[in-house]
Amino acid sequence: MRRRGVHCNPSTRFAAMSDAPFGTFFVPGPTEVRPEILAQLTRPMMQHRNRAFEAMFARIDAGLRDVLLTARPVYVGATSATGFMEMAIRNAAAGPILSLVNGGFSERFALVAESCGRQVERVVVPWGATFDLNAVEDALTQTRFAAVTVAQSETSTGVLTDVHEVAELAHRHGTIVLVDSVSGAGGAKITVDGWGLDYVLTGSQKALALPAGLAFAVASAEYVDRARSLPDRGFYFDIVQYDKFAARNQTPSTPATSLLYALEAQMGDIGREGIERRWERHLAMRDATIEWVYGLRERRGVDVSVVAPEGARSPTVTVIRLPLGMSPVELRNAIEVRGYTIGGGYGELAATTVRIGHMGDHTLEGLRRCLHACETAIAELAERRRLVRA
Ligand SMILES: *Cc1c(COP(=O)(O)O)cnc(C)c1O
Repeated sequence: MRRRGVHCNPSTRFAAMSDAPFGTFFVPGPTEVRPEILAQLTRPMMQHRNRAFEAMFARIDAGLRDVLLTARPVYVGATSATGFMEMAIRNAAAGPILSLVNGGFSERFALVAESCGRQVERVVVPWGATFDLNAVEDALTQTRFAAVTVAQSETSTGVLTDVHEVAELAHRHGTIVLVDSVSGAGGAKITVDGWGLDYVLTGSQKALALPAGLAFAVASAEYVDRARSLPDRGFYFDIVQYDKFAARNQTPSTPATSLLYALEAQMGDIGREGIERRWERHLAMRDATIEWVYGLRERRGVDVSVVAPEGARSPTVTVIRLPLGMSPVELRNAIEVRGYTIGGGYGELAATTVRIGHMGDHTLEGLRRCLHACETAIAELAERRRLVRA
C-alpha cells in the first residue's frame, strides 16, 4: 500500500500505523498503545454473566489492586475518566466541596461538583504553581467540607501534588479526599491504602497505556457505606451498585469487553514489569526530559524552560515553555515531519507551551529518540525566527 506521509485516508493510515515501530507518539493522553495490546481488541465477543467472564474480571481486579496498592475492589467503568470524577462527587456525603485548583483538570473537578449541585470553594494557585498547604488548612479550619478534590498529576501544567500530605491534612479536619490520578496511576507512585486515600480515580488512556474508554476507581469501605444513605446518587455512577457487582466480579451494566481483553493483557505485562520498577522508569523518563530541556538552553541558546517547579514535577508529563515568538503549532508540525507526535499546550498555557507525555509503555531509549527529533525541530525554528540568544 502506498503511503503519503501524514495526509492519508483512514484505511491507508491504519495500514501505516500497524507496521510503524512503537515509540513515536508522546502525547500526554491518549498515550501510545503497543500493537500486541491493540490486537486484543479483535478477539471475539463473550457473554458476561457467566463464570468465564468472572474469572477474567477477577484477574483484572487483582492486577489493578497491585497497580493502586489497595486491598479494596477496583471499580471498572465504561466511561472516560471524567465519568468517575462525577461518581466521586455524586456519592460523597452531603455538604460543600473544597477544590484544590492548579490547572485545567483540577478546575474540571470543581466544575463537576458545581454541576452536581454542590457548593464549591476553591483554593486556586496560578497554573504551574504548587499549593501552599497553609492556605488549604485555613479553608479547612473555616468550613466543614464534605470532601476535598485534588489532581495528583495536573496534566495541563505537569505539576505533581503530594496527595498523601493533602489526605492527612483533610483527615485532621474531619473530611475526606477525592483524588484524580488520571495521569498518575501506573506511572507516578500512588499507594491508595498506605496513604489513606478515600477515593481515587484514573483512566485507561494515560499511564496505563490502554485505549481510551475505561475508568477505574477505588473507594474506602467507609465512603461506600456512607453513600448508601444518600438519596440522589443517580444511576450510572452509583457506587453502591458498582460495589455490589464488583463483589461478584461483575459490572452493573454491560462491560466494554473488548477493552477488558486489552486491560487483562496489559495487567499481565505491568505485573511482570513490577509497579515499583514502572514508577522508576517514569522517574527516569521525567529526569531525562528535564535534563534535556535545560541542556537545550545551553547547547542551542533557546529560551525554553519547564513550567513545573523543581521538587513538584510529574513523572508522566513535562510541560515546556517555549521562547517568546515560537508557535507551539509550528513546532509540533516540525516534529511531526520527523516522525514524532507530542502534545500541545492545554487551556491557559495553549499558546506558550507544548507537552511531552513520557508515560505508559515508553522507554528511556525511545524517549531520547523523540527528544532528539524535538531538538532538531526547535533549533531549526529558533534559527528561522532568530530566537537564538546572543
Ligand atoms: C485526561 C485527564 C482527565 C480527563 O480524563 P477523560 O478520560 O478525558 O475524561 C482528568 N484529569 C486528568 C488529570 C487528566 O489527565
